[in-house]
Amino acid sequence: MNSVGATRPNIVFIMSDDHAAHAVSAYGSRINTTPNIDRIADGGVRLDAAFCTNSICTPSRAAILTGTYNHVNRVTTLDTHMDNSLVTFPGLLRDAGYQTAMIGKWHLGHGPGHDPTGFDHWRILPGQGHYHDPVMLEADGRVVERRGYVTDLITDDTIDWIRSRDRSRPFMVLCHHKAPHRRWEPAPRHATRYDDVDIAEPETMYEDLLTGHADRAAVVAAMRMRLMDLDPIYDLKAPVPPGLDAESELRWRYQRYIKDYLRVIDAVDEGVGRILDVLDDEGIAENTIVVYTSDQGFFLGDHGWFDKRLMYEESLRMPLCVRYPAAIPAASASSAMVLNVDVAPTLLSWAGVEVPAWMQGFDATPVMEGAVPAQWRTSMYYRYWMHRDAAHNVPAHLGVRTHDRKLICYYNDPCDQLGASGPADPVEWEMFDLAQDPLETRNVIADGDRRDEVAALTAELVRLADEVGDILPAGVR
Ligand code: CA
Repeated sequence: MNSVGATRPNIVFIMSDDHAAHAVSAYGSRINTTPNIDRIADGGVRLDAAFCTNSICTPSRAAILTGTYNHVNRVTTLDTHMDNSLVTFPGLLRDAGYQTAMIGKWHLGHGPGHDPTGFDHWRILPGQGHYHDPVMLEADGRVVERRGYVTDLITDDTIDWIRSRDRSRPFMVLCHHKAPHRRWEPAPRHATRYDDVDIAEPETMYEDLLTGHADRAAVVAAMRMRLMDLDPIYDLKAPVPPGLDAESELRWRYQRYIKDYLRVIDAVDEGVGRILDVLDDEGIAENTIVVYTSDQGFFLGDHGWFDKRLMYEESLRMPLCVRYPAAIPAASASSAMVLNVDVAPTLLSWAGVEVPAWMQGFDATPVMEGAVPAQWRTSMYYRYWMHRDAAHNVPAHLGVRTHDRKLICYYNDPCDQLGASGPADPVEWEMFDLAQDPLETRNVIADGDRRDEVAALTAELVRLADEVGDILPAGVR
């Protein structure tokens, strides 16, 4: 409920693309500082168990906008663009009298049937967009040629729109950055930052080199998402130095990769600071909800990988910091489980707009205000659908995460087997004990003394699938 009465809050929703929580200093990053994102956390709440229900760009964005899981909104993969007749929280806010805008990366398709709807103003990147001198699209097919760095332009446009708003009505703006998506092209002013330092390596970076992921499902070991799979010229922007052994090459690749990743985040963080300054300058910070999040997490060399997609922690976890001084205690944190599908009902609730019954996420305003309801969820359902995509070869999977356990089923989509001549890939399972093994280094699915736990988690997976209305593939139940 909106606890501040008649004055409806403004909403500034800042979402980056592929920004892992472990590259945010408010979350204890070992590799960088994000002082402006931290300002949001310092002035509000940091959600420590915020998860996406499908760790890939387009589907997570659809889940955020509609408050529904991907089997409901039908945006299951990068190639299934969102039907723009679906009801979204921005459209509902607009219907309720908010002025609304969408600026930056949309990535839900464009053109008839897919252009953003529910906004008074929108200016988006086509598809992934470009880091430098990007083309942007507007209503009625207008194409805008821009000069400059994409993160700065999206920030500028967001600020311009806030400054030029109708001050008699509340506003809601989606500021969606392209950064830090692959291929991590920094702004010129950040191009040499970190050149003279070594960035700390993740503890699990050598797992691939040491074990070849032999402890994991065979379909996971066969993925092409290793630091060794990054293209030196395209991704790392330099040829591999001659004469390196495997360990030295891995180290070199990690430093090349992570430094550009952090450089593009630096521009995002600066943009966040500029927007916060504008809210202060306009005198509206107290009654404005500011959200910082990312569509999913990312592997930052963890387990030897880059990218996302998997249900493992680094990819599953979203950074989610929310500042709303009128309702949220400053410098608070919550370990209650909050999902991407909760964003829509939560923001609608604060705005005093009725949450449609068909929305599947929960109103998390009590969680964020520091009073977790007794019946709040203690487990979550996950499903990744893009079975063995050509680039990364990541298998489709689904699973359940509780506060201290995770069960994953690689169900080897039978649709993928239709054209195959050989036998279908077997269904494979993994289980992790997050209490004993938070970095998920030991798959305990085959431990004999875990049978009861596996059975209980499987039952919970089935219960959650039923609750959200998904149909489990053959071989899972
Ligand atoms: Ca993404």
